[in-house]
Amino acid sequence: MEKIYLDYASTTPVDPEVLQAMEPYFYENFGNVSSSHFFGRQASKSLEDARDVLAQFIGAQSQEVIFTSGATEANNQAIIGVARSLKSKGKHIIISSIEHPSVLAPVEYLVKEDGYSVTYLSVDQEGQVDPDEVRDSITEETILISVMVASNEIGVIQPVEEIGALAKEKNIYFHVDAVQAVGHVPVNVEDIHCDVLSLSAHKFYGPKGVGALYIRKGTKVLPFLLGGDQEYGLRASTQNVAGAVGLVKAIGICQEKMAGEMKQQSAWRDKLFTEVSRRIDRVVINGHRTRRLPNNVHFSFEKVQGESLLMSLDMVGFAASMGSACHSGAMEPSHVLRAIGLSDDLAFGALRVTLGRWTTEDHINRLLDELPNMITGLRI
Ligand code: PMP
Repeated sequence: MEKIYLDYASTTPVDPEVLQAMEPYFYENFGNVSSSHFFGRQASKSLEDARDVLAQFIGAQSQEVIFTSGATEANNQAIIGVARSLKSKGKHIIISSIEHPSVLAPVEYLVKEDGYSVTYLSVDQEGQVDPDEVRDSITEETILISVMVASNEIGVIQPVEEIGALAKEKNIYFHVDAVQAVGHVPVNVEDIHCDVLSLSAHKFYGPKGVGALYIRKGTKVLPFLLGGDQEYGLRASTQNVAGAVGLVKAIGICQEKMAGEMKQQSAWRDKLFTEVSRRIDRVVINGHRTRRLPNNVHFSFEKVQGESLLMSLDMVGFAASMGSACHSGAMEPSHVLRAIGLSDDLAFGALRVTLGRWTTEDHINRLLDELPNMITGLRI
């Protein structure tokens, strides 16, 4: 049975060209960046070249980018590193209520352990933050605002440019989790006016276990991982040169293919929205219909158990998700679906289908053929 992967938001396969670009860094150019001999210098040059290219892609300067082990680390470093460096200035943080757990958890940690306070921004029924609510939430004590560029669950793109302009006007640091956006839609730190930005290679056809953090020049941030003085003293640990090279190769391929992929995927996304709504009753589309990632399709089916639907899909070869991989198996409905006001019934009846580089029209048509009977059979 052919396996059809429709879960690209959870992770992507490594593009073969990326793997090829990484290969020499395991056995020829394997040196430790910190070594002063030839092997170290060679590795260091490769890392700095990768940094230059990544910086250029996001509109930054090279010294403003550090490589990390992924976005969980980047988000933890951003939130805790900024908060701790500014604790004498204030202890209030503003974040959206639909952030990824890797943003929510460090904020909750600061609240519990260090006496910070947090305001959670609501989202409307379509999943969007209102910049006016951000303005109203700012106090004298506010030191950091964090709002994701695009949701990993419902794909909604937030008005980060407006929020960034507001943060800049108020002189408050602005962090964005750009994990789901980078490689899929244009992302530029100047357009967003962000001070800190997180990204992760495995969401755009690069390897797992490598990401990056952009930190605007002059931004006060304390290191999170302590030890050596790698990455401008902000991230101790021997650098993963192969990973950085892979990340940068992957982002380059995305850049080349972005316009075409955006057009193709949004056409398939819209076809799924239209056809599922036409062929199946009692279904809602979650998230804003157009202000969303080109590859994100998210439904809720009334009186259907999402977990059972995923199992039925799996049995006929489709890999999809209920939303965030981090929530699968949990008995609580997703905090994102709750935030957009879904009932428990609809939140438990969720299906996220995310498209990617190797999705075909045939995959879309086969899913459309399977779904109606499956939903009828599962409906309670
Ligand atoms: N933020 C978002 C929005 C994500 O989707 C993910 C991955 N699920 C992360 C952060 C964490 O990234 P990583 O897997 O690189 O730790």
